[in-house]
Amino acid sequence: MRTIEHWIAGLETAGSGSRTGDVFDPAQGRPQAQVRLGTAEDVDAAVSAARAAFGPWSQTSLSARVRVLFAFRELVDRHTDELARVVSLEHGKTLDDARGEVVRGREVVDFACGIPQLLKGEFSDQVSSGIDSHSFRQPLGVCAGITPFNFPVMVPMWMHPVAIACGNTFVLKPSERVPGASELVARLYAQAGLPDGVFNIVNGDKDVVDALLGHADVDAVSFVGSTPIARYVHGRASESGKRVQALGGAKNHAVVMPDADVDFAADQLVAAGYGSAGQRCMAISAVVAVGQVADQLVQAVSSRTAAITVGAGTDSAAQMGPLVSAAARDRVLDAVDAGEKDGATVVVDGRELQVPDGADGFFVGPTLLDQVTTDMSVYTEEIFGPVLVVLRVGSLDEALDLVNANPYGNGTAVFTSSGEVARSFQRRVQVGMIGVNVPIPVPMSYHSFGGWKDSLFGDHHIHGPEGVRFYTRAKVVSTRWPHVREESLAHLNFPTAT
Ligand code: NAD
Repeated sequence: MRTIEHWIAGLETAGSGSRTGDVFDPAQGRPQAQVRLGTAEDVDAAVSAARAAFGPWSQTSLSARVRVLFAFRELVDRHTDELARVVSLEHGKTLDDARGEVVRGREVVDFACGIPQLLKGEFSDQVSSGIDSHSFRQPLGVCAGITPFNFPVMVPMWMHPVAIACGNTFVLKPSERVPGASELVARLYAQAGLPDGVFNIVNGDKDVVDALLGHADVDAVSFVGSTPIARYVHGRASESGKRVQALGGAKNHAVVMPDADVDFAADQLVAAGYGSAGQRCMAISAVVAVGQVADQLVQAVSSRTAAITVGAGTDSAAQMGPLVSAAARDRVLDAVDAGEKDGATVVVDGRELQVPDGADGFFVGPTLLDQVTTDMSVYTEEIFGPVLVVLRVGSLDEALDLVNANPYGNGTAVFTSSGEVARSFQRRVQVGMIGVNVPIPVPMSYHSFGGWKDSLFGDHHIHGPEGVRFYTRAKVVSTRWPHVREESLAHLNFPTAT
C-alpha cells in the first residue's frame, strides 16, 4: 500500500517519523493508502526550508511571482479531474461535487494572479510642507496552514495562493484523512516554476500542529476546522506571538418565511443540507420555518429527501456519498437517535440505509427531523452529516432571536419574496455570511470568507482583500528631500503639519 509522504524543499520525503495513519476509502470502509505522520523535527525541516526560501522569494519581482501563479493556475485547471478524483476517493463526495471544490479553489488562484493590483499601496502628496507619505505592505515570512478534511483542495487554496503571491513562504499541514490532493498540488507548484521551499507539506496530526504553533520561525497561522481546535490554535498561536486566523465550526440556519416560494426553497434546502453528505461548513443544518409555511415545507423537503440516490462518490449515479469515517458515521447515527429520544419527529430516516456494494462503507442516508427544539442536542451540536432539522417559530423576530442565540455565526439564509424582510434580516442577523434566497452563500474569491462568534477566532476573514491584509503588514513612510539648509524647521515640539 502506498504511503503519502511530506513535501519539503521541493522533494518528497519520509522525514524522521515512523508513525503512519490509514487513509480510508469511505465508500468501502477500508484503508486505501497510508499517510506519514510527521514529527517536530519534520516541522523544523519544513520551516527551515521555508525560512531559507523566504528571502529570495520575497525579493522576487511582482511580475515574476505572478508568472508562477498564472502557470500554476493553468496547471490546476488542466488537472481538475485528477484532483477531483483524489478528493472523491479519499473524502467520499461525488466527483461533480469534488470538481466544484477544485474550481472554487482555483478561483482563489485567479484572484492571487491579480496581486500587483492589491499590493499597490497608497501615496499622499505634500502631507506637510515638503513632505510626502506613502504606505505599502510587505510579506510576513513563513506562514502555516492547518486544514480540515472536508475540502482537501479548496480550503488550503483559500490560504497558500494568497500567502505565496504576497511574497510569503508556506508550510501546509493537511487533514491526515485526505492528504492525497495536497501532494498533487505540491507537484503542480513545482511544475509551475515555484522555487523549492516556498510551498512545503508536513503531513500528520496533533504533534505536527503543536510543533507549528510553538515554532519560533513561524510568523502566521491560518487554521480551518472544528471550533474546539480553532479556539485552541488561536490561543496557542497568539501566546507565541503569531498572527492567527482560526475558522471554526458552524450551525447554519435557513429561515423560510411564509411568503417564500416553497418548492424553490425546498430544492435549495435539500441541495444545501445533503450535498457532500452535509460535510460542508456552509451546509444548511437547521431550517427555521416561520408561521404557516411549516407543514407544506416539511412535506416538500421530505419528498425530495427520500428521492436522493446515495452511493460511492465515484459512482456517476450517486447524488450523495458516504461520510468520511466510521467515527463520523457513528456520531451522526447517535445524534439522530438522541433527537428521536428527545421528542423530534423522524420524517425521513437514513439510519438503516443499505448501499449496494457498500455494506462496509460509512453511509448514512439523508435524514429529516421535524418538531426540533433548541434544547435538543441534535440542534445544539454540530452534526456535520446529512441531517436537516426543522424548528418552527411564529415570526421573523422569533427566527432572528433563535439564530442569534446560537453560538455559531458562519452562514445563514433567508427565503422570502419580500425585500423588506430580506433587508431587515441581513442587518439584524449576527452571522458573517448571509444568503437571500441563496442557501450556501460562500463568497467568491475576490470577497473574503468568514463567520462570526464561535465560527472564527481572530480579526481577519480568509482570502479576498482580508486575506491579503492577513498575509502582509503595513509600512508608512514619510519622506522629505530638503535641498536648502533654511528649510529645516526642526524643534523639540511634537511635529504638526505646516
Ligand atoms: P478538525 O478540527 O478535527 O481538524 C482540523 C485540523 O486540525 C486537521 O488538520 C487536524 O489534523 C487538526 N487537529 C485535529 N485535532 C487536533 C488537536 N487536538 N490538536 C491540534 N490539531 C488538531 O476538523 P475536521 O473534522 O477535519 O473538519 C470538520 C470541521 O471543520 C467542522 O467543524 C467544520 O464546520 C469545520 N470547517 C469550518 C470551515 C469554516 O470555514 N469555518 C470550513 C471547513 C470546515
